Amino acid sequence: MSQREWIEKDFYKELGVSSSATTEEITKAYRKLARDNHPDANPGNAEAEQRFKAVSEAKSVLTDPAKRKEYDEARRLFASGGFGRGGGGFNPGAGGFGGGGQTFDVGDIFGQGGGGDGGIGDLFGGLFNRGGGQQRTTSNRPRRGSDVETETTLGFREATQGVTVPLRLTSPSSCTTCHGSGAKPGTSPRVCPRCNGAGVVNRNQGAFGFSEPCDDCRGTGSIIDDPCEDCRGTGVQNRTRTITVRVPPGVSDGQKIRLAGQGEAGLRGAPSGDLYVTVRVRADKVFGRTGDDLTVTVPVSYGELVLGTTLSVPTLDGRVGVKVPPGTVDGRVLRVRGRGVPKKSGPAGDLMVTVKVAVPQKLDDPATEALHAYLEAEKASGFDPRAGWAGA
Ligand SMILES: [Zn+2]
Ligand SMILES: [Zn+2]
Repeated sequence: MSQREWIEKDFYKELGVSSSATTEEITKAYRKLARDNHPDANPGNAEAEQRFKAVSEAKSVLTDPAKRKEYDEARRLFASGGFGRGGGGFNPGAGGFGGGGQTFDVGDIFGQGGGGDGGIGDLFGGLFNRGGGQQRTTSNRPRRGSDVETETTLGFREATQGVTVPLRLTSPSSCTTCHGSGAKPGTSPRVCPRCNGAGVVNRNQGAFGFSEPCDDCRGTGSIIDDPCEDCRGTGVQNRTRTITVRVPPGVSDGQKIRLAGQGEAGLRGAPSGDLYVTVRVRADKVFGRTGDDLTVTVPVSYGELVLGTTLSVPTLDGRVGVKVPPGTVDGRVLRVRGRGVPKKSGPAGDLMVTVKVAVPQKLDDPATEALHAYLEAEKASGFDPRAGWAGA
């Protein structure tokens, strides 16, 4: 059973006890009802069987202090409109967004603040995940639009330096014909007379009351007499739109960018959901990345490492001269500060230059001769590359 069904059930009513009943009172009420509705005592009576199951369930929750506490809190929030009914907020599957701390919130770029999470997120922790951010709207009022997820692929340099990209999105948007009201142009939805727009109706049963969704308006609080033909009264239409996304510099492969209010349109004028763009970054032929550091491997000759040289190394922004000191070992990494990946704020990362000896596969005669002569001279100078190696 889903959490939602669980919350919508009134276990107290099921057992005919008040919400402040003690565990003993609950158990007592349960015993009587269980006896009366027991399948053995009511063979073939489906209604009794149903009732028997319902009271058993109610008892199992209400006599477990931890479960009862959770149930009470959930219902308190539900009654106060903490949950978006039927909204994406309930879907734990929708909670993947922002889970790994990878979300790059760029709401500030667009001058829009991000929506806060409701307290429910704390209560249910992982169960409802970030869906919790979706139910600021009350259970019966217009419903906030769902979050939308999409992907874009950027070149390495675009991603590191920041870029503005157009994104084509097909998603439900506010209906242009009725402007999201769901009512035929020229008409407007009227307040549901049964629930006065609340979307829930209160009932009294004995000493205590409870509320349930209004049937007349199906919990929406309003009634549309002439539905808009283009959206069949939903206020939402599928639309393809192109939006421009400014990707901040330094975004890395797999990172998510959040665009507040760019998701699905809300129902009946409610706020839109958010758009999450997962950025894929293509590999670069020259550069690699480690966090904010840019990595590059430069081929060098053995002679350059021995004698030292200055290398001209490409960066994201022009070339830079990198000094290789005499006697540099193969594979050494030289750091050039501040020439790495730019950040949204603060100093850029560093450029990490790895030197790697390129061995000639073919030499002409003069070079071969010279190399032979060099090896002799090297030996004479006392250099032995394997001195002290492997017990030598
Ligand atoms: Zn419409
Ligand atoms: Zn109603």
